[in-house]
Amino acid sequence: MTEEHFDVVIIGGGNAGIGVTGPVRRAGLSVAMIEARDLGGTCPNRGCTPKKVLVAAGQALHDIERAAQHQIAVGEPKLDWAALIAREKNLIKDIPENLARAMARRKVEVIRGYGSFAGPETVRVGDRALHAGHIVIAAGSKPRPLPIPGAEHMITSDDMLSDDKRPQSVIFIGGGVISLEFGHVYARAGSSVTILEALPQLLPAMDTDAVAQLQAESERIGLQIKTGVRIGRIEASAGRFRVIFTHEGKEKAAEADRVVNGGGRIADVDALNLSAGQVDHDNGRIATDSYLRSASNPRVFVCGDAVATSPQLSPIATYEGDLVGRNIVDGAKHSPDYTSIATAVYAVPALAAVGLTEAAVKAKGVAADVHVNDMRDWFSARTYAETVAWSKVIVDRGSDQILGAHFVGHAGHELVNIFGLAMKFGIRARELREHIYAYPTFASDIRHMLGRA
Ligand SMILES: Cc1cc2nc3c(=O)[nH]c(=O)nc-3n(C[C@H](O)[C@H](O)[C@H](O)COP(=O)(O)OP(=O)(O)OC[C@H]3O[C@@H](n4cnc5c(N)ncnc54)[C@H](O)[C@@H]3O)c2cc1C
Repeated sequence: MTEEHFDVVIIGGGNAGIGVTGPVRRAGLSVAMIEARDLGGTCPNRGCTPKKVLVAAGQALHDIERAAQHQIAVGEPKLDWAALIAREKNLIKDIPENLARAMARRKVEVIRGYGSFAGPETVRVGDRALHAGHIVIAAGSKPRPLPIPGAEHMITSDDMLSDDKRPQSVIFIGGGVISLEFGHVYARAGSSVTILEALPQLLPAMDTDAVAQLQAESERIGLQIKTGVRIGRIEASAGRFRVIFTHEGKEKAAEADRVVNGGGRIADVDALNLSAGQVDHDNGRIATDSYLRSASNPRVFVCGDAVATSPQLSPIATYEGDLVGRNIVDGAKHSPDYTSIATAVYAVPALAAVGLTEAAVKAKGVAADVHVNDMRDWFSARTYAETVAWSKVIVDRGSDQILGAHFVGHAGHELVNIFGLAMKFGIRARELREHIYAYPTFASDIRHMLGRA
C-alpha cells in the first residue's frame, strides 16, 4: 500500500467534483480526483449532452410535423436511429480527454479507479492510501432500484443512449423527467410509448397546471399515460416484456420491446464505506449541515447528485462543487441557495420552471398574483404554429418580486432564465414589464405574461 498526502481528495470527476477544483487550486491546495469511469461524469457522457442530441432530433420531427402550416410540402420523415445514436456518440467522444487536459492544466492529479473510505481522513483507491485534509464526496447518482418482481428486465437511460436499434414499443415505469424526455423522442420517431406512474401526477415536484399542459401535449403526439398505477410485476417472453399493473381497481397488462426504469435516481454512495469514514448516513442519505459538510466528520463535504436533498441538475452540481471548494478554502461559511435555479424537462416542447409552484406559494400563505396565459392565439405562437404555448407567472403582491414562473412551449426553456435572473437580483415584475425587448421575440411577450400593472 502506497501512502500519499493531499490537501483535498475528491471522489468523483463529474460536474460537482470538477466544480470543487477551481477554488481549491486557486488557493494553491494539492488535489487528487478519483474517477472510476469517464471524466465529466453523467452530464456530458451519459446525461444532459447526449440526451439533448436526441431531443434536437425530436424537435426537428416536431418542426416537420408543422411544415404544412408554413406552406412547405415535405414527405414522410424517416429517422435513421442507428445514425442518430452514432451522431450523439461522435459529438461527445472528445469530452473526457478534453477534461483530462483541463484537469492537468489545473494541476489536479487524476487517479483512475474506485475510491472508498479507509478511515476518517483516508481514501483508498487500488493499492494507494490517500490521506487528506479534506475529502469531498462527489460520486453522483444511479437509477433508483424499484422493488418490483422482474425489475432486472428494466433498462436505464444509459442503455437508451447507446441502443442503436429503436424499439417499436417502450414502457416507462415512473413518470419523471427521463421518461418524458426520451418518451417524446421515441414517440416522434414512431415508437409506441406508455408511461406508468404510481402517483396521481407525472413530474410530482412541478406545477400541477404546467404538468397538465405537458401531459395533454404528450397525449396529442400519442403517448399513453396512466397515473395512480400499482406495478405488479414484469415478465419476459420471447424477447418482449409484459408489465402487469393495477389501474383504477383493475389488473391490466401492457407489452413492449423495452421496459425502462423511469423511477428517478438516488445518491450513489452506498459502496463508499462511509462508516469507515465516520460519515453518518441513513439509507443512502448523508447527513450534512448547512455548508454541505458531513454532520459527523467535518473533514468531509458532499456535493452534486450525491447530496440527497437538492435537485439533481448539472448546474446545481457545479454550483455545489464550487461552494464546497470555497468552504474548504475559507472555512465553512457558504450555504447553498437554490431559489432562482431554473430547470427544464426537455420534452418537445419543453416544460420549464423556476421558483415556487402555485401550490407551494399557497402552502406558504403568501399573498400572490398568479398570471396564467394560454398563448396559442398570440401572434408569436401563431407565427411559429405552436401546438402548446402556456405560461404561469406568480408575483408576490406585496413586494412585486417574482416567486415562480412556469412554461410549456413558447421558448420557455430560454425565457425561464430571464425570470431566474429577476429572482436572483431582485428585478421586480414591474421592471420586467417595463423593459424593452427585441421585437418580435418570445421574450417580448414577457410584458403580456405579467398582466397589467
Ligand atoms: C439521462 C440523463 C439526462 C440528464 N439531463 C439533464 C439535463 O438536461 N439538465 C441537467 O441539469 N441535468 C441533467 N441530468 C442530471 C445531471 O447529469 C446530474 O445532475 C449531474 O451530472 C450530476 O453531477 P455529479 O458530478 O454530481 O455526478 P456525476 O456526473 O454522476 O459524476 C459522478 C462521478 O463519480 C464517479 N464515481 C462514483 N463513485 C465513485 C467512486 N467510488 N470512486 C471513483 N469515482 C466514482 C462516477 O463514475 C462519475 O463519473 C441528467 C441525468 C441523466 C441520467
